[in-house]
Amino acid sequence: MPNIQEYHRDKEGSNISKIVVDRDLCIGAQSCIAPGGDTFELDSENKAIVNDANSVDDSALMAAAQACPTRAILLYDKEGKQLN
Ligand code: SF4
Repeated sequence: MPNIQEYHRDKEGSNISKIVVDRDLCIGAQSCIAPGGDTFELDSENKAIVNDANSVDDSALMAAAQACPTRAILLYDKEGKQLN
């Protein structure tokens, strides 16, 4: 069973309304942390969790997701379309 965590995002002017972290894929590489501002942090299991879904603009959030070596972060618009 996949270990998926979903986070709602409601930042004004943003096209991204959902952040999904696949905890099984996350290896704690931390590549997402710096580009994501305050968006991501690591929990006690060394897996990424969302601290503040509205922390940064769409381009920074996209960069954070793309920085993940295992593609553990997926971003969706409000129609449910995957953006990365
Ligand atoms: S970059 Fe990917 S693998 Fe690394 S902590 Fe972030 S979500 Fe996990």
